Amino acid sequence: MSLKEVVLSAARSAGLAAAARKATGSQLRILGYHGLWLTPGYQFGNCVFMCPEVFEARMARLKGSGQPVLPLAEAVDRLANGSLPEAAVVITIDDGWVSTFTHMLPVLEKYRLPATLYATTWYAGRALPVVNVAVDYLRAAAGRLDIDGEAKVREIEALPVGERLDALRCFGAELGVDEAWLELRQFNIMSVDELAEAQRRGLDVQLHTHRHIDVEAHVDALPRELDENRAFLRAAVGDARLEHFCYPSGTNHPRARALLAANGVRSGTLVTEGLNAPGSDPLALRRFLDGRSISDARFDAYLSGILHYMAHMPRVRPLVSGRRSSAGRERHRG
Ligand SMILES: [Zn+2]
Repeated sequence: MSLKEVVLSAARSAGLAAAARKATGSQLRILGYHGLWLTPGYQFGNCVFMCPEVFEARMARLKGSGQPVLPLAEAVDRLANGSLPEAAVVITIDDGWVSTFTHMLPVLEKYRLPATLYATTWYAGRALPVVNVAVDYLRAAAGRLDIDGEAKVREIEALPVGERLDALRCFGAELGVDEAWLELRQFNIMSVDELAEAQRRGLDVQLHTHRHIDVEAHVDALPRELDENRAFLRAAVGDARLEHFCYPSGTNHPRARALLAANGVRSGTLVTEGLNAPGSDPLALRRFLDGRSISDARFDAYLSGILHYMAHMPRVRPLVSGRRSSAGRERHRG
């Protein structure tokens, strides 16, 4: 257990959790998830893909905390008008990995927890793993980080879409990596039918750009990316209100806010860790990115508010203050 974990655990047992929950009660907590790791053998993607058992245990802890879990749209409205219940929590899930549909959705249903899925859609229309993530996995699983992944991705993405799956399969075979990841659709995005069923079962499907763009580098593409993302999702899930957005990999640009507002977007979530006080900019909401390496103590400390309550006490700040999370920095281009 690291010193930080010891401090967090001690704080919890000393009754600080209740005090922190009260002190930060008006602030909205937002949890951020991606997919789950289903493939046997090498465990890849520490923050992007967490273990199914850990995800279920976290949802059980959240339920057990007794803190109110609200749908995102309601939480955004109530954050603006100051009517949030104490220590309210929102669950968000990025991208739309197949494991979100097959393994996360049943857990959310079991615990009756509302959640928002920020769906990126270019890959949703194709039975093709996300190329750059699959290439990174294959290199890592084979212990071949000496191979230039960027060059390999460029080579595969230069092929017609219909040939990319075979190219990935060949690359995996060359490196001697078992094909379980392909069979399990580890790096696939949910299909149109899966998106539609997820929405029917209560998952709130929202915006994440069509091609998962780097907003910092391609801010001018944002309006078109929102249009394409919306058009695809409308065709998949019907006439849902699509007005909540997540910055892909947390990338941002000074002009993005105005572009989002002008395009009917009411909230935007970042990968920056933190709580959201009443009156916070709804287009720059902070989250806690949960992952495989996050301890229960740290998860509890975010939920109770200890993590941020203590971060404002100068003498303990160095012991608890968080990293600016890099967990959302998975790249996937269309
Ligand atoms: Zn994403």
